[in-house]
Amino acid sequence: MSCNHTASENIFVCQQCGECCNGFGGTYVSEADIRAIAGFIHTDADTFVRRYCRRSGSRYVLGQADSGYCFFWKDKRCTIHPVKPRMCRAWPFIPNVLKDPENWKIMAGSCPGIRTDVPIADVLDCVRRRLEVLS
Ligand code: SF4
Ligand code: SF4
Repeated sequence: MSCNHTASENIFVCQQCGECCNGFGGTYVSEADIRAIAGFIHTDADTFVRRYCRRSGSRYVLGQADSGYCFFWKDKRCTIHPVKPRMCRAWPFIPNVLKDPENWKIMAGSCPGIRTDVPIADVLDCVRRRLEVLS
């Protein structure tokens, strides 16, 4: 998928390092995410939530295995890639970048797929367009 002016792959290419899938980071799952993932792994929503989710306030987040990684990070890949939560699909094109463009550089500190050698105006343009598609 590309943006009108800046192709998203010119500013971000996932390196499959798994860094963003490690640790209790609060990968929220919506009702739609829960239904999609449960169907993908051939279980029902209640069982999925009980086995793989944790509460975070009033919402659910994906839980971690003993390794510290998300339950669905195995053999160095996301095993639910086609239905991964919206948060995972959106990364790194998130509203916080529009709120403060400095966040792009901060995020790049822990995500080797993010390029910081492109004009921030191009980054903002791309983030805006990707968010439109996801909404
Ligand atoms: S931290 Fe970035 S490069 Fe690494 S897996 Fe996550 S999105 Fe991909
Ligand atoms: S669902 Fe996939 S991309 Fe998202 S945190 Fe888990 S392993 Fe990573």
